[in-house]
Amino acid sequence: MTINPVSAWNGILSYVKENIGQQSFDTWFKPIVALKLESNVLTIQVPSQFFYEWLEEHYVTILRKALHNELGITGKLEYSIIVDKGSDTNKPYVVNIPNNRTNNNTRVLNTPQVSNPFDIQAVSGFATDSQLNQNYTFDNYIEGDCNRLARSAGLAVVNKPGVTSFNPLFLYSSVGLGKTHLVQAIGNKLKQDKSEKFVLYVSSEKFANQVIEAFKNNNIQEFANYYLQVDVLIVDDIQFLAGKEKTQEIFFHIFNHLHQSGKQIIMTSDCPPKELKGLQERLISRFKWGLTADLQQPDFETRMAIIHKKIENDGIVLPKEVIEYIAYSVDTNVRELEGVIVSLIAQSSLARKEIDLDLAKQALNSIVQNIDIEVNMDYIQKFVQNYFDISIELMKAKTRKREVVVARQVSMYLAKEYTNMSLKSIGAHFGGRDHSTVIHAITTVNDMMDTDQQFYATMQDVLKKVKMRAKAS
Ligand code: ADP
Ligand code: MG
Repeated sequence: MTINPVSAWNGILSYVKENIGQQSFDTWFKPIVALKLESNVLTIQVPSQFFYEWLEEHYVTILRKALHNELGITGKLEYSIIVDKGSDTNKPYVVNIPNNRTNNNTRVLNTPQVSNPFDIQAVSGFATDSQLNQNYTFDNYIEGDCNRLARSAGLAVVNKPGVTSFNPLFLYSSVGLGKTHLVQAIGNKLKQDKSEKFVLYVSSEKFANQVIEAFKNNNIQEFANYYLQVDVLIVDDIQFLAGKEKTQEIFFHIFNHLHQSGKQIIMTSDCPPKELKGLQERLISRFKWGLTADLQQPDFETRMAIIHKKIENDGIVLPKEVIEYIAYSVDTNVRELEGVIVSLIAQSSLARKEIDLDLAKQALNSIVQNIDIEVNMDYIQKFVQNYFDISIELMKAKTRKREVVVARQVSMYLAKEYTNMSLKSIGAHFGGRDHSTVIHAITTVNDMMDTDQQFYATMQDVLKKVKMRAKAS
């Protein structure tokens, strides 16, 4: 049995080396220094707490075997973790932790609550600024029912980063609904209000690439240190970590550290945590610790407001009916909405024409598929079905219930207005009714519009909506 720490450690190293890959060995074992060997406890110095956790997480079994080979069954390992590198005058500050796993499965890891003592350090290859796009602000982020919860959670985080129960803040939605904008706005406002905080925005793809680079360049430690200095970490599109095991490992450690030391984490994804495929369960369960909020498709009013804001920022004026038309037609997502506006402006300047409803219709026709469909019987029946919430079957059936009759009559009226169908043919589409029934329907609708104010308003809305769908003339 050896009593010299260095030779004991070298013995352990040669065992480890045979059992793991060269790169891992260089990354995780070469930087370790053997300090002392007393009472069969070998103390090794590791460069950081992150390093220590990594070893405990990944190499504990190998280390224990090697240790027992070298020092016998009573041999123990103790880590001396450099928490502060110190300077000429200050000694380094270290924390000693015994390697105290009892067996392979149970983990008794007392992670010390070590706050990160480093100032923001330039780490070669890593940016010291926030990587934020200043164009994304709360000012130009329109609030609507679709984003109210996420937005106010974001503001709460700006007020008290890391302190609210919204940690992590996990935002999800399908594409183009404003996740990136919102998290960037949070970052920008944080920088403005709390300039002492180190805010960092990173896409998960970039993070993954940095991990690969760091492994390649053997500076995974510096890489981790860099991230551990962050006060508010924003990771966009976390779903792209799927299947990237190494990256997930590193992210897990960084997440734990930041969370434990009260740092704020904000993430976005294209789905809620539980639906994330290819991500480790332990990560997913952590993602659920704080607040999960989704962004939904904006409703008509919000789309109007977004268009107004957008053209106002661009210094453009559009006729109200054009704005309404766009807001009405493009209901998929905000990115598409913006694309349509940009393209409309481009087409108007190319054609040297004012943007009016016709131009808008033509422009949108080429951008958004099928938004201008022919108003035919099929369309009218479906439209009325949705608008009045009466099924097509009911409209065709014999029932004389008042609300069904109204829906049926409105459909017939619209068919007469917007299609070239004969009265007979219109009647045939409603359970084989004859042409006199259709005439009666049209007369009734006209009468009701004259006498019933509320019905008149409803019909105005119906006609406007159908008209918007009608092909550009
Ligand atoms: P995601 O990250 O969810 O795919 P983005 O944040 O990139 O979506 O949003 C797409 C575009 O829509 C961006 O240009 C963004 O500024 C804009 N946008 C999204 N939501 C809003 C909103 N509520 N108010 C103003 N602009 C928005
Ligand atoms: Mg995005």
